[in-house]
Amino acid sequence: MTDTLQIEIHPIEKSRIDTVDFDNLVFGRTFADHMLVVDYKDGAWQTPQIVPYGPITFSPAMMSLHYGQAIFEGMKAYKNAAGEVLVFRPQANLNRLNQSAVRMCMPEIPENVFMEGLTELLRLDSAWIPAKPGCSMYIRPFMFSTDEYVGVTPSKTYRFIIFNCPVGSYYTKPLRVKVETQYIRSAHGGVGFSKNAGNYGGSLYPTKLANDAGYDQIIWTDAATHQYVEEAGTMNLMFVIGDTLVTAPTGDTILDGITRKSVIAVAKDWGMKVEERQLAVAELIEGIQNGTVKEAFGAGTAAVIAPISTIGFEGVDYDLPERPEDAFSRRVYDEINNIRLGNTVDTRGWVYKV
Ligand SMILES: *Cc1c(COP(=O)(O)O)cnc(C)c1O
Repeated sequence: MTDTLQIEIHPIEKSRIDTVDFDNLVFGRTFADHMLVVDYKDGAWQTPQIVPYGPITFSPAMMSLHYGQAIFEGMKAYKNAAGEVLVFRPQANLNRLNQSAVRMCMPEIPENVFMEGLTELLRLDSAWIPAKPGCSMYIRPFMFSTDEYVGVTPSKTYRFIIFNCPVGSYYTKPLRVKVETQYIRSAHGGVGFSKNAGNYGGSLYPTKLANDAGYDQIIWTDAATHQYVEEAGTMNLMFVIGDTLVTAPTGDTILDGITRKSVIAVAKDWGMKVEERQLAVAELIEGIQNGTVKEAFGAGTAAVIAPISTIGFEGVDYDLPERPEDAFSRRVYDEINNIRLGNTVDTRGWVYKV
């Protein structure tokens, strides 16, 4: 990082913070006072600006609206007991954003723009970061093409924005998920590993069908054969089978989740066996029936760990056992949560102090 980066700050005239009910935050609907805005043109990132959060004006011909050159990230900041602001693994999000950028023919964000912009923004809006247990600031960095041009080609101009949402504690009741064998999320050679907007647009309809059938989420299977499980909705999918943590290997069809990475690292540090391998739906169903599949859960920034209670496959529901108090998914949740909150010594260099 250089210390020469200029950031222009245009503070809000009057904070909106008094209008917010911090006891009843709905995920993703409350926005802190400021946002970071950085434009790319003439082959270079321009001076970052911090401005009041609010509407932005663009041409109806803005390319990202038509051809989907749009990528995003999601991460969280917390206040520790001393009131300091901690961000969980932001460099990992930057790396992934830049991998998504390369795949979508977009310019990469320099580390100092991302890290210093984020730092200034969080400092300015630190009063918005809830200190209550379980609450956090959800951080949404994203980039989109901005050329006014109706032609299918990479844009020459882009905008990068970070805005922040204070969010309440995220409780999910154990999920009922359906193994999807018709629709797909991603295929080899495609864009499934990138966090690009179109991936989520495409997932809405099959998810709606699953919701209509009484499930909370989908388990995506591989596009070619529908025989192997890949992810759960917008989370990575993990299992405890016997005494082994099993999850699909990352590759071009799997989103390389930072929560997934963190769960694997903690499991290995605890001496647990970890297998990153293909897992057949047939093996999963058989394992649930014979009791070797002990736990199933999604892993992602929003919930950290989202336990799965039921897996539906070809019209039959298979129930996972109740999680005991010492279940791996509970212990790893506590461990990661304590690291994020600064309650546990951060031996892995995961926490960035603003
Ligand atoms: C964001 C995302 C994840 C989880 O990634 P985290 O970095 O752990 O939040 C998993 N799968 C998909 C499809 C995602 O978009």
